[in-house]
Order: sequence, then C-alpha cells, then structure tokens
Amino acid sequence: MPDLIPAPRQPRAPVRGGGDFPVRRIYCVGRNFADHAREMGVLAPASKADRGQPVFFLKPADAIVTGGADVPYPPGTQDLHHEVELVVAIGLDAPAEELTREQAEALVFAYGVGLDLTRRDLQAAAKAKGLPWDTGKGFDHSAPLSELVPATQVGGLEHRTLTLQVNGEQRQHGTLADLIWDVPDILHELSKLFALKAGDLVFMGTPAGVGPLVAGDGFVATLDGVAELRGRIVAR
Ligand code: MN
Repeated sequence: MPDLIPAPRQPRAPVRGGGDFPVRRIYCVGRNFADHAREMGVLAPASKADRGQPVFFLKPADAIVTGGADVPYPPGTQDLHHEVELVVAIGLDAPAEELTREQAEALVFAYGVGLDLTRRDLQAAAKAKGLPWDTGKGFDHSAPLSELVPATQVGGLEHRTLTLQVNGEQRQHGTLADLIWDVPDILHELSKLFALKAGDLVFMGTPAGVGPLVAGDGFVATLDGVAELRGRIVAR
C-alpha cells in the first residue's frame, strides 16, 4: 500500500570517513557525573555500590542537529541550558536482554560529542510537580551532534575528557573516568528496559558547569582527540 502522507525524513548523522548513521532512537542518561548531580541539588552516590538505578529519558530522533548547523533558540523557555556529553552510537541489534559487558561493548559502532540542550525552566517545573521531562528535554533541535567516529579509531575512553567552550570561555570540563555508569554499564541497564537496536544513540550525561545559552552564542564541544562540535545559537 502507498504511504498516504509524505514519508518523514530519516534523521542521519555523518560518520568520519564517509557514509551516514541512520538514527532510530536517542536515549539519554541523567545525573551520571557526581559533580553535576550535586549542582542540580541531588545527593551523589558515595560509591558505585550506592549508585542505585540510572536516570533515563529520551529525545526524538529528529532532534539531532548535524553538520554544525545553526541551532534555533527554542520556543517556550527563558532558560536554555547546555550539557556537553559523550554520545555512543549503536551499530547492531542487541542479541539478548540484560547484555553482559562484552555483549554491550560489541554493539558500539561509533562515538561522538553532543549537547543535551535543556529547557531548564520547564524541566525544573516538571521535577517540582513530579511530571515528565519531555518538554524540557525532547524538543526540536535539542541534540546537536558531532560527526561520529568509528569505535575502532577511538580506543579507550576512560582517560578522555569532555569540554565545552561558549564564546571562547570554558564552561564545562570533565573526565570520562568520573562517569558513575560507564558505557557498558549503561547499555546493560538500558537493555533491561528496552531492546537496543542499530541506529540508537545514547547521550551519556554531563559533568558540572551547565548554564544558559542565548541567541548569538557560539559553542565548541570536544571529546579530546576524538571529535569536535561547533555551532551557534540563533534567534528563531
Ligand atoms: Mn544530560
């Protein structure tokens, strides 16, 4: 049967070396760095044994902004915030529920760096009332993303750092060694809740230093030695 409406365009992220990564879902992890949990007023776990369950939320696949395109300041907020994050791109369907670490690592196709843009005022209002975070997190253009870099070219992540500069000034900096839940941990936890599939992206959570962005701001997000994302916030 023919489609009865124009088919939505499949969101795609460019991959270093050529070709695209078609995006299926975007999973995001909240509070995955203790210093960011503290700045949000949440008690950080004292050790891995106390870490409980990770916080997950989703963004729509078409929230990605690629190729360094301008990011329009979103409607409905007076407090757009940046969160620089490691992004993991899944290249295979998960073979099982409750992935082992080895199975989880085998699914990773590529890494990149992205921004989990947040309408902090709407998120704070939702948190206060125990309501969902969707309007605060899952809006159009809320996931600017670098080129993806094949995992085979990246090697170990634990000593890499995330940095965000805005208008040439450093706002956020952290090391992936400080992740409360590392990549295999997160894929294991996600696999208990969702069937991970090729085309899924995972935004891994942000270090401390989140803050406002306004129209005219230029940002540079880096995963050192791996990927860089440059972009600009523009008035709608
Ligand atoms: Mn985040």
